[in-house]
Amino acid sequence: MKIAVLPGDGIGPEIVAQAVKVLEALRTDGAKIEMETAPIGGAGYDAAGDPLPEATLALARDADAVLLGAVGGPQYDALDRPLRPERGLLRIRKELNLFANLRPALLYPELAGASSLKPEVVSGLDLMIVRELTGDVYFGQPRGIEIRNGERVGFNTMLYSESEVRRVAHVAFGIAMKRGKKLCSVEKANVLECSELWKEVMIEVSKDYPEVALTHMYVDNAAMQLIRAPKQFDTIVTGNIFGDILSDAASMLSGSIGMLPSASLDEHNKGMYEPIHGSAPDIAGKNLANPLATILSVAMMYRYTFADIATADRIENAVKQVIAQGLRTGDIWTEGTRRVSCSEMGDAVVKSL
Ligand code: NAD
Repeated sequence: MKIAVLPGDGIGPEIVAQAVKVLEALRTDGAKIEMETAPIGGAGYDAAGDPLPEATLALARDADAVLLGAVGGPQYDALDRPLRPERGLLRIRKELNLFANLRPALLYPELAGASSLKPEVVSGLDLMIVRELTGDVYFGQPRGIEIRNGERVGFNTMLYSESEVRRVAHVAFGIAMKRGKKLCSVEKANVLECSELWKEVMIEVSKDYPEVALTHMYVDNAAMQLIRAPKQFDTIVTGNIFGDILSDAASMLSGSIGMLPSASLDEHNKGMYEPIHGSAPDIAGKNLANPLATILSVAMMYRYTFADIATADRIENAVKQVIAQGLRTGDIWTEGTRRVSCSEMGDAVVKSL
């Protein structure tokens, strides 16, 4: 199994180093893994003048899976838009055709106190958001800023083809089948034609999955329900921009974005695995970051790309154990628990493993 390792910027190299420790421990146990590292984001710009250097893309294409840290940093904010780190991320997702983004939000019982909601509202939360990742208003044409009637106007195009909706629907129904068999499709069909088509296609695809109970919800209501009663949801499927916002809100239910992994899959379950958070420039280089989201991303890699459920469970159990032992990085630390650094947390997971 070939893994392209793309640490990126900010805390990216620190957290990816911990995930690599976990992979190396699995290799010592006999897992056949090859890893190769390449720059992306600001690091790609620094190395090759491009946030997604040709060589990095070639490595990612050739690999079975990609492990990514995070990209971005204030020193790159003044660059022309196509050269900015985030463009490297959007491009690699598009180039690898990673159209299905899986973002679990799971609450470890010991961290219920770290959530901004009351423990009884969130304890036992186990939610999966499937976000379409390569279409919608982020990619639709035309887009731009131009002068109309003597003033500047900015415009983007919300656009989905039925095949784009259908393929992400199949992924979402497949995941719902393996979970609680409940799928909620989130859109804004009362106002947007694009959402009207989304809803129609979801209903068509649901005929292939008679065991899954499909419901529909407008995105504004979904935002409210996620905060009011998040445990009503099992699996949510939604478009790119709605999913971007809702999955960040859902991440807060579980305490810290430092705990949450993600997977972005293509049609053949090849995937890119990354924590949902960014490059955290405020704590970069200080060995303070929480590496668990990145380590849990490796567990997702085993679950979805390598179809090795036993190893995925083993990694997740090792993380559960270090949490149960009371080890905490600063973002999830509470009175009475033991504050550890990024590398100490990585070492503890390897030991548990
Ligand atoms: P961020 O996720 O980097 O940070 C938000 C807050 O959460 C910060 O206070 C940070 O210290 C904290 N945080 C994030 N990850 C953490 C971790 N693992 N452990 C402990 N604390 C953690 O979001 P931001 O500040 O809005 O963005 C910073 C940079 O990251 C920007 O350049 C942005 O464009 C980029 N970004 C990249 C990605 C990505 O690579 N996928 C996603 C979001 C933002």
